[in-house]
Amino acid sequence: MNLKAEIKAEAKRLGFLLVGATTLQTPPHFSKYEAWIDQGFHGVMAYLANDRARQRRFDPHQILPEATSILCLALPYAAPLREQRLPNDGNTGQIAAYAWGPDYHEIIPPRLAQLVAWVESRLNRPIRWRGYTDTGPILERELALFAGLGWIGKNTCLIHPRHGSFFFLAEIFWDVDLEPDQPIQADYCGSCRRCIDACPTNCILPDRTLDARRCISYQTIENKGSIPVEIRPQLGSWIFGCDICQQVCPWNIRFAKLPGDPALAPPAENPMPGLIAEISLTSEQFNHKYRHSPVLRTRRRGYLRNVAVAIGNQPDPAALPSLSQAIARESEPLVRAHIAWAIAQIGGSPARQVLEQAQTVETDETVLTEIQSALETLR
Ligand code: SF4
Ligand code: SF4
Repeated sequence: MNLKAEIKAEAKRLGFLLVGATTLQTPPHFSKYEAWIDQGFHGVMAYLANDRARQRRFDPHQILPEATSILCLALPYAAPLREQRLPNDGNTGQIAAYAWGPDYHEIIPPRLAQLVAWVESRLNRPIRWRGYTDTGPILERELALFAGLGWIGKNTCLIHPRHGSFFFLAEIFWDVDLEPDQPIQADYCGSCRRCIDACPTNCILPDRTLDARRCISYQTIENKGSIPVEIRPQLGSWIFGCDICQQVCPWNIRFAKLPGDPALAPPAENPMPGLIAEISLTSEQFNHKYRHSPVLRTRRRGYLRNVAVAIGNQPDPAALPSLSQAIARESEPLVRAHIAWAIAQIGGSPARQVLEQAQTVETDETVLTEIQSALETLR
């Protein structure tokens, strides 16, 4: 076995499903990425647009000048099974499947370090390296594409023809000279457009990019402020991320029962939380409940903002007492503002009374504006 084959075998022993090598060339689609940034499709994700990050994406040598190859890897997480999808009870929030289990940032880096240690031992020399998993200025999908891990689908995900797309990507830049693998040349999307038709916000663009500003994943995770009123109804019951465009993909449906890595396994109980209970989470409860979860990324204020929108999208008068209590005791204006919107979606004179009461004690201008708008929709 040559060195690359041995490294791939060791990576697979460590749980990586897909492994391939590529070079440190400028990613061929870099100009597409530049055009995407220039059109502002990245929204408030300024870290994607700053000059230093652009330079590093343009020239991967800048990440590690001594590097001679990049190893690309994919670690699978459990695909959302049909029975784990949204129960029709009107009180359940959906979380993207990648976030059901522990935070991949805690799982993947130690495995990269283990793999590097194994190669150091095999080569009997120290290795200069840097590892990434969604943690730096790298066009990860592009590198994985050229390392032969899959093709980039119309839904913008990297997809493998036998394993679908429910996996995390990771990379090792290192001074280990490996022959590059061959990219998959075929476009297995063909004439399919299921993801485009299923996307609730129509944010998938024809050139296999997204208008991130309209994507539910962006709005529920990256956007730290108010969710635009016109987008709120399209969020449905999603409270952290969205994977509709992956769920409908035939390449995932075909392989939907593939198990994920055991370390990323979701809890045995259904990981979809009840919305009414969630809207009352204190900081301590939120931080404890999601302490090892990617959900922590939104912080409590972003998460409860999302929960309020999801409640408003499944309007049920039974939720009104909880919303009434929550708007009265909630300390975050962002959350109070979105609760006001949710109350208006429930509608009726009890909802109006709750909003009028909240208006008498509210001191924050942005929340008062939301309450005023909410009351106007009830007239
Ligand atoms: Fe559309 Fe959801 Fe996919 Fe974003 S994650 S592109 S909102 S289906
Ligand atoms: Fe491609 Fe169809 Fe999958 Fe979209 S749903 S990524 S068009 S195969």
